[in-house]
Amino acid sequence: MVKWVYTFGDGKAEGSARDVALLGGKGANLAEMASLGLPVPPGLTVTTEACNWFYNNGRVLPPGLQEEVLKGIAGMEAITGRRFGDAGRPLLLSVRSGARASMPGMMDTVLNLGLNDDSVQALGHDAGDARFAWDSYRRFIQMYSNVVLGLDHELFEEILEDEKNRLGHEFDTDLTAVEWQHVVSLYKEMLEEELGEPFPQEPHEQLWGAVSGVFSSWMNARAVTYRMLHNIPEAWGTAVNIQAMVFGNLGTSSATGVAFTRNPSTGEKTLYGEFLVNAQGEDVVAGIRTPQSITEEGRIASGSERPSMEKLMPQTFAAFREICDRLEAHYRDVQDVEFTIERGKLWMLQTRSAKRTTRAAMKVAVDMVAEGLITREEAIARIEPSSLDQLLHPTIDPKAGRDVIGSGLPASPGAATGEIVFTAEEAVAAEAEGRKVILVRIETSPEDIHGMHVAEGILTTRGGMTSHAAVVARGMGIPCVVGAGTMRVDLRNGRLIGMGMTLEKGDVITIDGSSGQVLAGRVAMLQPELSGDFGRLMEWADGLRRMDIRTNADTPSDARAARSFGAEGIGLCRTEHMFFDGGRIHVMREMILAEDEKGRRAALDRLLPMQRQDFTELFAIMHGLPVTIRLLDPPLHEFLPKTGKETREVAAAMGMDEAVLGQRLDALHEFNPMLGLRGCRLAIAYPEIAEMQARAIFQAAVEAARETGAAVVPEIMVPLVGLRSEIDYVKGVIDRVAQEVTGEAGLRIDYLVGTMIELPRAALQAHAIAEAAEFFSFGTNDLTQTTFGISRDDAARFMTIYQRKGIVDHDPFVSLDFDGVGELMEIAATRGRRTRPKMKIGICGEHGGDPVSIRFCENIGLDYVSCSPFRVPIARLAAAQATIAAKAVRLGDA
Ligand code: PEP
Ligand code: MG
Repeated sequence: MVKWVYTFGDGKAEGSARDVALLGGKGANLAEMASLGLPVPPGLTVTTEACNWFYNNGRVLPPGLQEEVLKGIAGMEAITGRRFGDAGRPLLLSVRSGARASMPGMMDTVLNLGLNDDSVQALGHDAGDARFAWDSYRRFIQMYSNVVLGLDHELFEEILEDEKNRLGHEFDTDLTAVEWQHVVSLYKEMLEEELGEPFPQEPHEQLWGAVSGVFSSWMNARAVTYRMLHNIPEAWGTAVNIQAMVFGNLGTSSATGVAFTRNPSTGEKTLYGEFLVNAQGEDVVAGIRTPQSITEEGRIASGSERPSMEKLMPQTFAAFREICDRLEAHYRDVQDVEFTIERGKLWMLQTRSAKRTTRAAMKVAVDMVAEGLITREEAIARIEPSSLDQLLHPTIDPKAGRDVIGSGLPASPGAATGEIVFTAEEAVAAEAEGRKVILVRIETSPEDIHGMHVAEGILTTRGGMTSHAAVVARGMGIPCVVGAGTMRVDLRNGRLIGMGMTLEKGDVITIDGSSGQVLAGRVAMLQPELSGDFGRLMEWADGLRRMDIRTNADTPSDARAARSFGAEGIGLCRTEHMFFDGGRIHVMREMILAEDEKGRRAALDRLLPMQRQDFTELFAIMHGLPVTIRLLDPPLHEFLPKTGKETREVAAAMGMDEAVLGQRLDALHEFNPMLGLRGCRLAIAYPEIAEMQARAIFQAAVEAARETGAAVVPEIMVPLVGLRSEIDYVKGVIDRVAQEVTGEAGLRIDYLVGTMIELPRAALQAHAIAEAAEFFSFGTNDLTQTTFGISRDDAARFMTIYQRKGIVDHDPFVSLDFDGVGELMEIAATRGRRTRPKMKIGICGEHGGDPVSIRFCENIGLDYVSCSPFRVPIARLAAAQATIAAKAVRLGDA
């Protein structure tokens, strides 16, 4: 028979902290605290399995549940010496939700259950306080009616407000026992009128109603939205915790409060919390009264005159502090606790791992290693890698107000404030005048690069996580929000239309690339801090991880930033990005638009010294570390003019007839450029381009080696290879140029020629391709695109719909699709190494900076991951976690 109920209390419990899935977080930890002998009001937990049964069977309670609950209540009666449903010494109950993951305030609670017209008298008598009893009864009626009977809170608030007006009272606390009693009768009258039935007086009926009500709250709109936002599966269900009531509102020796065993925002090792004398838990949350500090230290720090719990209730405080210490040592983590003091007696109502800022998480982890509480591995495992974003960029001060005018995808982390500009040219002009700008576009194209470079932040109203704006901004470490579909750019009138607000060029906005929010005006920020605890943890991570961490860098400033974040080489230099800069794009266009090879070579001759200088600088910055340079990859149309105005400008600049240029553009037109003349196909169609790039690379290697004394071993990468013969051909070109440059320089150059694996055919034919390719790098952006047959630039339009409808559980362009793309990677790695056992294999798609994907890369034995500079620390930590996890699995298997 299924067991639906787990009891706890009086030093014993049927469950434990390990049973979080079955008992929910609250229930599991109440059981654990009870077993530790801590003062927990006796109670029971109805399991999440009962919740699932409830939903699978038309919302009725499972058979056998009531008997088990009643048995559990009998145990509570024995411990408390009270009886449920008794009019003399009634046992009153709290009925609370508690899911596996914390969902604060999303589900319902009923307190004071068991009260009725008779037991309210007994409670008053018992407490020696009739006012307290009637106040408790009216709270119960209101909560129960809302949770179980579906009546709006407002119906009750209205009655209370009217009464207060009639009586001339300002606060609830002004009402007397008799007045509360009258309010109760008004509540009951209203309720009977609304529902056609009186308020249920029978405590058992109340109880089953409340259990069903709490289960039902799992599917209320708030909870459903919260689960969606936090990826909490619906199938988890909630548990229900039924406990003997304890009262924090029984006079001045009673209180209720919340505390953290360490400061959750700084991580400092000081007890931190607040309490209210003569109050119930909901009063602390409601914020009607200002809570007092628990410790003297906290009181002094907050400049409050009102006494601390330490001062007011020294004995209870000492007991509480001891319990907090015990809990922290037991769980070996910072705890967030709730407690109530009933007439001097302390009761613990909840404990859980405390949520904390990244900064606090770092400090706590490092401190706990020093205190001998946890190991370095545990410290590393406890930091959520993507939360490091918070430390690497300026972030919005959590205390600052947020005036949200739109939102999109959080494409590149950090926050930025600036004046709105709508074109790259405006951005450059404003920057030249020393003004800070946010570049706002419908979407960006490579031609916007110069504007993107000088902007503080980038906002687009279209596009997804691998759109041009997103990839480039991440690469540059510039905060970026893309696909802000709730906003509209009205280019003609130079306006940005947001929610409830229209802004113009020059108006100041703030974007939060970590949350995707767009805010009006300037907002207070916190600056990054990379030494101290952060540095220490990174050092530990580096000592543990197996994979190397490289970076995707196209410019010297990217490369420098990446080095400062700890990159161990460049895994991808997208050379095309080097051609968008000011003077170069014209030469590039001349090259593309040339009628023949002679014309192309003339333009390439002018590009050669520029490329050579780029590479020399990169090699010098990386000082002997590996540098992977990819030959030109993108469809050429990315470099070409798009509008009539641009075409006229280009024609004028090149001294070309506009009509001739138009014809040339038509000839270059492709229906599907992403699958067209790009990647190695360019090098095969126009080998002179690859020749120029190879020459620039080898000459730069010679120069950099001479300058720095650190030999460079360039890794030349051929993009979009699908056929063995493609890599053979391009490698032939590169090898020939290498021979020539070696001859000219009289110096030996070591180099590698490898390929991206970004087409399914390449993955399947990896054994053949590896005969020519000396290394592989997974281009998982294209590999995802080509495996799914989903355009990476258009995916955002429907990927959110797919996620909402449960067709996919995550965007495969953000986190690897293990089953499809992942399997191709595994096949490619295995087959490639069958041909070339020691071959270096890495990843340079956007997934290289995604912690979950990094774990997969560890598992299939990649040598390195490469990601944008600002993700390097995240990757260092995630790679260490992956090594730790893989080791744990191996040990478990043994
Ligand atoms: C990729 O396809 O994963 C890749 C790194 O190349 P790009 O994004 O430049 O196409
Ligand atoms: Mg690619």
